[in-house]
Amino acid sequence: MAKVALEEKFKGKGTRKCRICGNARAVIRKYNLHICRRCFREVAEHINFRKY
Ligand SMILES: [Zn+2]
Repeated sequence: MAKVALEEKFKGKGTRKCRICGNARAVIRKYNLHICRRCFREVAEHINFRKY
């Protein structure tokens, strides 16, 4: 049950960590991505994300 609570907490507001590598620096919270810039570059290729 504690594990579920942690996941809920992770999904909740206030989390500023990359959900891929756990890096808390330069995390992009826009578009509900919650990933850091480094992981974003990799993910962006998969989702065909364009630079705005
Ligand atoms: Zn990352």
